[in-house]
Amino acid sequence: MPFGLITDSVFQQHDTGPYHCETAGRLAAIDQALNTWPGLGQAVVLPLRPASEEELLRVHQASHLARIAGTQGKGASLDPDTVASPRSFEVACLAAGSLIDLCDAALEEEVQHGFALVRPPGHHATASRAMGFCLFNNVAVAAAHLMEVRGLERVLVVDWDVHHGNGTEDIFYHDPRVLYFSTHQWPLYPGTGAVQATGRDEGEGFTVNVPMTPGQGDLEYVQAFGQLLAPVTAQFKPQFILVSAGFDAHREDPLGSMMISSAGFAALTQVLTGLADEFCPGRVVMALEGGYNQAALARSVVAVCEALGGRREDVILDQALRAPLVGSVAKARETASAHWSLD
Ligand SMILES: [Zn+2]
Repeated sequence: MPFGLITDSVFQQHDTGPYHCETAGRLAAIDQALNTWPGLGQAVVLPLRPASEEELLRVHQASHLARIAGTQGKGASLDPDTVASPRSFEVACLAAGSLIDLCDAALEEEVQHGFALVRPPGHHATASRAMGFCLFNNVAVAAAHLMEVRGLERVLVVDWDVHHGNGTEDIFYHDPRVLYFSTHQWPLYPGTGAVQATGRDEGEGFTVNVPMTPGQGDLEYVQAFGQLLAPVTAQFKPQFILVSAGFDAHREDPLGSMMISSAGFAALTQVLTGLADEFCPGRVVMALEGGYNQAALARSVVAVCEALGGRREDVILDQALRAPLVGSVAKARETASAHWSLD
């Protein structure tokens, strides 16, 4: 079965100006790397389509949708970090809608796993607000589609971007159908994602935050995935795995202070495909979030695509599982043990 990709130069038409780090050049760098990647031959590039109003309104308030739609043809500054250019609304609709179709393709077994290489990113966008370079919350819109239209009851959202995905957490904070698991540098923008934030009401326990200490890298992240995400996932039994795949926790990234290597991202992907093999084969779908060193971003995306296709990073995984458990992961495990069995 082919691997699914969403990639198109239209996503470079969200124009953030000459001085913004979340720039169209990020996708150009990824394109260049993918075009020389031998595995591209096994991928199928899906057609694009915009998300409908109905699809966006599953997670966003009508006032938010109206505000973003109102930037069409004009552009606007939405918050100190976040801008819309004349075509941003159209491009943002294509990002969310195409991610939905990629998820459907995985669900229908037309593709095995997939990666949506889209902009603008999404995980900071809340129901009511654009922020942190994000207009619509692509991953949340896709998760809502999987539940409301496709009838899934359990969706795992993994967010390894260096920043906490405050928007995604907030949208599903009360919802036990979505398990939101985030590793993020602590402290850092946007300031949410404390280990004690575990969800509320029926959603209590279904938010798992793992604040990471600056300087941590492959081994510590693999521990978070292997020693915490894996046992929680085995109990949650997801029917689909969506990934907010930002690459700003890469050791060469200018915004983050974490030390993940490109191979480390592949190792994390291997943990996820291993979990998918058990609970939802072929259904790991990534959506691009951050990542601001363009060369490192491009290398990491290719490494993750290779891992989705079966490349293995057993050396990193073995080293991490033999090393003593680091404090940040131990603390998150202790908190999560109130809701999940973690012996
Ligand atoms: Zn980020």
